[in-house]
Amino acid sequence: MTKRRPLIAGNWKMNLNIDDSINLVREIAAGTDQLEGVDVLVAPPFTALGAVRNAIGDSRIFLAGQNMHWEMSGAYTGEISGMMLKEAGCTHVIIGHSERRSLFKETNQTIDLKVKAATLLGLVPILCIGETLEQREGGQTFEVLKEQLDLSLNNYRSDGIMRHSTILAYEPVWAIGTGKTATPLQAQEVHRFIREWIEESFDTKTASRVRILYGGSVKPDNVKDLMSEQDIDGALVGGASLKEDSFLKLIRFD
Ligand code: PEP
Repeated sequence: MTKRRPLIAGNWKMNLNIDDSINLVREIAAGTDQLEGVDVLVAPPFTALGAVRNAIGDSRIFLAGQNMHWEMSGAYTGEISGMMLKEAGCTHVIIGHSERRSLFKETNQTIDLKVKAATLLGLVPILCIGETLEQREGGQTFEVLKEQLDLSLNNYRSDGIMRHSTILAYEPVWAIGTGKTATPLQAQEVHRFIREWIEESFDTKTASRVRILYGGSVKPDNVKDLMSEQDIDGALVGGASLKEDSFLKLIRFD
């Protein structure tokens, strides 16, 4: 039986103004006040981080950035450092989201630098990996995921250490924002593969502790089945995290 604590994470992407962000997080805080046994996280746009942090107050909602640069500061117009995210109250940071990889040409090599920098700063990285439809249909899913893991966690592998707090998110690109979800069995198969990769690359204890989230059109009507799979420890949610009623239903997935 798994002892990993489930995590439901909302990635708000480039949506919601500051007032909407404050209202949403207040509703989430009120709706999860008495809830035990599940972690909740939100990743608002950068401009709303400070306001959302204030609105979270003492409630147990974790705050994440949606991206960061690997340097601490410097001449990197348009970028934000992990130190700045920490200053804004973040405890976590999403790294290597498929939209960053495909639209902004992020590579496994730069993602590896980001994971390393986040870890050094004490920010928990939520590393996203996932295959495209073409790669799945071409039978390359596991090869692609292995390469993403090997290269995006190259610094961890060189050090031989992966912190147990590290979070991985399997997000098949073909399921993000498309309404197509991986079946629970398809997702479980990949999550098991990822856990085995962690075991081979690090050790059994690390593999048993690291949480692996599923992301890709998670909705109130499919979350329970996904969460009932042994190696699925939570969800990284885009669209359905933008409304309090659907997000609260996801958080109460049982
Ligand atoms: C995401 O952006 O990480 C995501 C999974 O989006 P959606 O839930 O909208 O598919």
